[in-house]
Amino acid sequence: MAFRRLRIRKRAPRPSRIQSMLVANRGEIALRIIRAGWELGIHSVLAASEADIDSLPARVADQVVSLGGGGAGETYLSLERIIEAAKESEVQAIHPGYGFLSENPTFSRRCEEEDLIFIGPSADAMEKLGDKVWAKKKAEELKIPIIPGSKDVVKDAREAFQIAKRVGYPVLIKAAAGGGGRGMRVVQHPRDLKNAFLSAQQEATLAFGDDACFLEKYLAKPRHVEIQMMADTRGQVRHLFERECSIQRRHQKLLEEAPCLKVSHLLRRSMIQASIGLVRAAKYYGVCTMEFLVDRNRAYFIECNTRVQVEHPVTEQITGIDIVRAGIRIAGREKIPFSQHQVKRQGHAIECRINAEDPRRGFAPTPGRVEELILPAGPGIRVDTHLCPGYTVPDLYDSLVAKVIAFGRTRKEAINRMERALREMVIRGFPTTLPFHRRLLAHQTFRRGKSWTRFVEQQGSRLTEPDDLESERGLMAAALLLADEEDHPPVGKPIPEDQGASWALGGTPEQQDAPWN
Ligand code: ADP
Repeated sequence: MAFRRLRIRKRAPRPSRIQSMLVANRGEIALRIIRAGWELGIHSVLAASEADIDSLPARVADQVVSLGGGGAGETYLSLERIIEAAKESEVQAIHPGYGFLSENPTFSRRCEEEDLIFIGPSADAMEKLGDKVWAKKKAEELKIPIIPGSKDVVKDAREAFQIAKRVGYPVLIKAAAGGGGRGMRVVQHPRDLKNAFLSAQQEATLAFGDDACFLEKYLAKPRHVEIQMMADTRGQVRHLFERECSIQRRHQKLLEEAPCLKVSHLLRRSMIQASIGLVRAAKYYGVCTMEFLVDRNRAYFIECNTRVQVEHPVTEQITGIDIVRAGIRIAGREKIPFSQHQVKRQGHAIECRINAEDPRRGFAPTPGRVEELILPAGPGIRVDTHLCPGYTVPDLYDSLVAKVIAFGRTRKEAINRMERALREMVIRGFPTTLPFHRRLLAHQTFRRGKSWTRFVEQQGSRLTEPDDLESERGLMAAALLLADEEDHPPVGKPIPEDQGASWALGGTPEQQDAPWN
């Protein structure tokens, strides 16, 4: 009798698809995650502070747990409170979004200990790649160009002097755990170094609970280019091309686009290779972004963001890949189902961050109540926002209120659509960055793709003054208020017939040539 050999196959670990998650964030990103969860059949529980308990994400979530009152420290940044909320709602996983606890390895480790799936990297990989000093050292080891500066954390002002002398002024002091441009000081002259170093340390302690700072040569006219990455738990690594994020204020992004206009094929390849190398070196899984500064056609690695970025939609638009859903599936131990070869990009996408900020007052936050809201739509326009009429933007958190994303076959078409969208969009109740973006889109330097990281700063009031449309709408709002006060019946919002002529942004000869169909 012939024996058939039984092959005993080792069973692959079962995919642990996520069925329920706590969304430990707020605003547009909370909504974005809940939407992704819904599409994946995941039960989403929103952890919301009292200030956010009636917000749009709270209305859309399957369930809401209150984090109680107070600012970020007592709510979204309270590790214990978030873990408690996850236990209370019996979820399997926690999605931290961006900001708050998303890049805190103690939090991610705590989730592991509590048997909760952290939707993001392992604590170990986050500890490595999320630390700017570790990441730069590793980059150097892998022969990836980095900006000249300290090799390690700078111990004191005396050491800072020595390094600054070696690399030459101006220099930049940066917090090792930094983010959002905090804990950064530009130093032009040795006499300012000591105070700048001490105040950067102080700000880093306050913001990140860690005073570790390092020092770099301050590049005069760089562009910010970053690579979107994703990797799964089986070691498969994919890149989703680059984004250009040079439009910034105070080292924080205001407008992002993909692809990057002025990147040669060779430079793109070198940044992609560097990013793959770093992801592999840290045994990283999840989504992340490798950031570079490009100066005179050379790319220098600056840091890795170990989470989903605010600007992820522009990459989604040009690749058709849902990055938020991918992050959740990877955390659920699913395998990336596409090869690198299958990742294709098409067209051009731009994102404008609409913040509750007054560009005229140095982009100071302007929280307030939404009195009137008109959101743009139509071909090629996507809006990620948690705003709704009557909603009050709390003064406790970040000032980002909406992201308008325009997609076109070419950059010209994307700009054109964005101009149309920002013309349609109305947020009345508090100043926003809308007029700033309308001015920026009309600026020839931006249109030619020649901006750099300090372009906005250098332009001064040319970009921050209200535009014609803003002034017109201001007058209209005042007239409506007056009519109300005089006890007239409320009227609809009239659009003056001559408004088309006053749009400084539409109808350039270049746009009239744009292919329309
Ligand atoms: P954060 O983590 O706080 O966002 P990053 O290291 O990502 O800080 O840098 C944010 C921005 O700061 C960059 O996009 C760039 O505009 C500016 N920046 C950072 N390092 C340098 C540098 N060495 N020279 C010039 N600008 C820099």
